[in-house]
Parts: sequence; C-alpha cells; structure tokens
Amino acid sequence: MALAGRDKADYKREYMRRRRNGPAKPATCSFCDEPGSSDRLLVGDADTIICEACVTLAVARIAEARR
Ligand SMILES: [Zn+2]
Repeated sequence: MALAGRDKADYKREYMRRRRNGPAKPATCSFCDEPGSSDRLLVGDADTIICEACVTLAVARIAEARR
C-alpha cells in the first residue's frame, strides 16, 4: 500500500536529493546555533533543540527574575 500523496517517484526524488546534498546537517542548538559535543549536550526534538549552555543561561535568568 502506498502512503497517501507519495508514490515511487517521490521516494526516488528524495533519494536523489539526499545523495546530492550528502548527509543531513548535524543538529545544532535552536538558540545559539552551536552543534552538540561532549561538553555541550543537546536536548529537544527534531523541531526545537536547546544546548546545555543555553539551559544554564535560561536557568540563571529565571532565578534572577524570581529573586
Ligand atoms: Zn545553545
């Protein structure tokens, strides 16, 4: 059974596009755009990702606002 709206040609186009563009860009923080590393863990899903440094900054800002 074919998925709604997609046929074999769509999959072939997607395959060729991925071959042309190479592997997907590595994930980066949605806030500072830095990639993840062993010192900078990334947390999130495919749409929104936040890194350890931005979480630390956000926690400090919230703590300051609550003071
Ligand atoms: Zn970040």
